[in-house]
Amino acid sequence: MCYLALRKFEGLPRPEKKRLIDMLCEAGVLWLQFTGGEPTIDRDFLSAYTYAYERGMLLEILTNGSRLHREDVLDTLTRLPPHKLTVSLYGASEEAADSLTRTRGSFRRVMKGLDAVRAVKIPIEVTIIITTHNEHEVDAMRNLAHKYTDRVNEFGSISPTYDGQPDPLAAQSTRFLGGDTVFQGCPAGHTFFHVDPFGLATMCKVGRENPVNLMEAGVAGLLGLPAISDAQMLRTGGCSGCKLSGTCRVCRPLAKAYQTAKAPLENYCQHGKGVPA
Ligand code: SF4
Repeated sequence: MCYLALRKFEGLPRPEKKRLIDMLCEAGVLWLQFTGGEPTIDRDFLSAYTYAYERGMLLEILTNGSRLHREDVLDTLTRLPPHKLTVSLYGASEEAADSLTRTRGSFRRVMKGLDAVRAVKIPIEVTIIITTHNEHEVDAMRNLAHKYTDRVNEFGSISPTYDGQPDPLAAQSTRFLGGDTVFQGCPAGHTFFHVDPFGLATMCKVGRENPVNLMEAGVAGLLGLPAISDAQMLRTGGCSGCKLSGTCRVCRPLAKAYQTAKAPLENYCQHGKGVPA
């Protein structure tokens, strides 16, 4: 159900990661979110986290919780507390969670991680990821999450991969798709941006056209991002001339991913929801 098509173990070597973090500081980045795949399995995660912390950024980690029980992780997060630690919950039972992650033992590991961070009093937020694998136990997931924190979110908007591969849609629970709010615009590429493991900067995780190679262009390369972002937000392609775009629930890059994946219109587009034009 991941929005990434490939999650290869690859990226910049450690010194280049530090150079990238220096560049982000130079660019005035105040808040940095580590995400993945799963960020904590990267062998440089703790050193990159520590370095970014020492450079004074507010740090957020999005994790599946599978490594939170490890001593080195717990030690670092206790000494250098994250601004926010968000753990994804994929089920309330081994059966549901392990079938979704396709990893035997994943549920046991996240439980171990949640217990470990609670024991050392690291505050967390839990995001319940709702899919066809676990929609039957949503209430149990809510109860489980609330045992660890009051800050519980729910997420059911499983999208295609950012490059439009449809595979994650098989896990999409149509009862929990969300998307009730009209899209009001987004400052991606203007006030925040995304950087991949190679230092390629894009407007966000989804809109990845015309990436800027920060390792070659340096911080100045970011000056081109607003225009790259604006171009991706135009209702072009399958959305060209749409009379319902004023009530659309998805941004253009996400609509494009759905369209490329040939997802059912009713799952994302107002034209599939019987909204009169
Ligand atoms: S309503 Fe559908 S066609 Fe119109 S802008 Fe949104 S996704 Fe595109």
